[in-house]
Amino acid sequence: MKYWDERLIQEQMALYDKAYLVTGELKTEYTRTAQELVKDITALYEKIQSGGATVNDLYKYDRLYRMLAETNRKLRRLNAKEVKLLRHEFTDLFNANSAMLRRKFGFSAKPDSKTVLNVLKKIWAPDGLNWSERCWVDKAKLVQTLEKGLIDCVARGASRQELIRTIRDGFETSYGRADRLVRTELSYVQTQSTLAQYQAEGVKRYVIIDAGDYEGSGRNPERECEVCHTLAEAGPYPIEDAKTGVNLPPIHPNCRCTIAPYNESGVVGYLAGMTDEEVEAEKKRLQKEALNK
Ligand SMILES: [Zn+2]
Repeated sequence: MKYWDERLIQEQMALYDKAYLVTGELKTEYTRTAQELVKDITALYEKIQSGGATVNDLYKYDRLYRMLAETNRKLRRLNAKEVKLLRHEFTDLFNANSAMLRRKFGFSAKPDSKTVLNVLKKIWAPDGLNWSERCWVDKAKLVQTLEKGLIDCVARGASRQELIRTIRDGFETSYGRADRLVRTELSYVQTQSTLAQYQAEGVKRYVIIDAGDYEGSGRNPERECEVCHTLAEAGPYPIEDAKTGVNLPPIHPNCRCTIAPYNESGVVGYLAGMTDEEVEAEKKRLQKEALNK
């Protein structure tokens, strides 16, 4: 990978990794809600078991409906926190990313402040839902899982421990989905910020920079990301034709690839607007800086 491409990818990843830390807070919220629901649901379970109720009796229980309503309420609260946390993080990443690009490329124009709102609202996923809608769809799934788990445990006369495990597993799965969603959306928001910054600056074409393989535990810049490498070779692309998942990252799960501006003289990325001598001087300065560390 070229020196300048590598630096752009590194800076972008640093911003992404910082934003990804939000999942720690998210995990805490999920754990807290799970603990509360374990308490509610097991209390009801004990009541049902001691009363010798069967599955058929279950829906005569007022307490079951109250418990389900309460579960719903708690998951709505969790969802509201999740959406708030993520909205904040996505906005921050959008702004930090475009500021980084302005510094790197010496750009002065800023993306319109409404752009970030549009990016967050935009429906782009194949399922036709945007991220906050998907957060709620997932919680609704979780309510069903918990209800089904409780009924199943009553039917089988399962132990309290088993019921607790069922609840925890439900939350674990739901958190796993949330985590995947965050990763995909962070990549999306970051590339949209990049695109918006280039558009604001009047960049007409862009190239894809393949970040290297990012599957598994870490990144290997020596091993190219196959899909994006092929797309990178096929570029440059007109900026108005940019389409997420087609010629604009994220192209595949865990995609950390990005785009760089391309101008008439075929100069890519950092080289835009810089003479060869300036590039060399900057390279020397950075190498010296690295040695002095
Ligand atoms: Zn990629």
